Amino acid sequence: MMNENVLRAGLLATAHEMAGKGLSAGTSGNVSVRCARGFLITPTGRAYEDCTPDDMALMAMDGNWQGTFAPSSEWRIHRDIYAAHPEAGAVLHAHSPFATALACHRRRIPAFHYMIARFGGDDIRCAPYATFGTQALSDGALAALDGRSACLLANHGMLVFGSDLRRTLALAIEFETLCEQYWRACQIGAPSILSAGEMAEVIALFENYGQPRPTTPPGDAGAA
Ligand code: 13P
Ligand code: ZN
Repeated sequence: MMNENVLRAGLLATAHEMAGKGLSAGTSGNVSVRCARGFLITPTGRAYEDCTPDDMALMAMDGNWQGTFAPSSEWRIHRDIYAAHPEAGAVLHAHSPFATALACHRRRIPAFHYMIARFGGDDIRCAPYATFGTQALSDGALAALDGRSACLLANHGMLVFGSDLRRTLALAIEFETLCEQYWRACQIGAPSILSAGEMAEVIALFENYGQPRPTTPPGDAGAA
């Protein structure tokens, strides 16, 4: 696992990229990365442009934290994902425009496109509404993530996890793109949905899809 200072820099860089890629505005959303002592997470309600790497809060899995600023109000979701998914090295939550629009309809995203399989199954679920920052929201999100690496949060936004910060950000962008494509496809009627058999083939192919990463660039915070 990478040194904590490298992870801090990578976490802040990812938080900046969330805004740069149109996934978040203002102080909405949050991101975290697993580390040896638990996980590092963006501070609550603080603009990332005003943050330094040292402002990232360090959280232990028991909920205790250390840092200049209090951790994100959604630390329970991040903590619970790391506890339930050993493969999770980073977690990202955003109020990205298209995912949030669908989440406000409390709609699951069916297999309208084969790329849905990227997130582990033949749909992306929507967790029930609960007040932000609560254990109830985390419990609903964890259930919606069963066998999946992403879900919507009703009347709120989206949640995604991956093996490291870089992959998690890339997955979040793919997720938001799928939400936009689904939204557009629905403008001209109900899209055709792939069958369970068609999706099973894609899910199997995704197990070996992609290229190994050549090198880890400086500032990247791969934790896995
Ligand atoms: P934080 O600023 O506490 O991370 O909250 C933002 C958010 O999106 C809550 O759901
Ligand atoms: Zn939120």
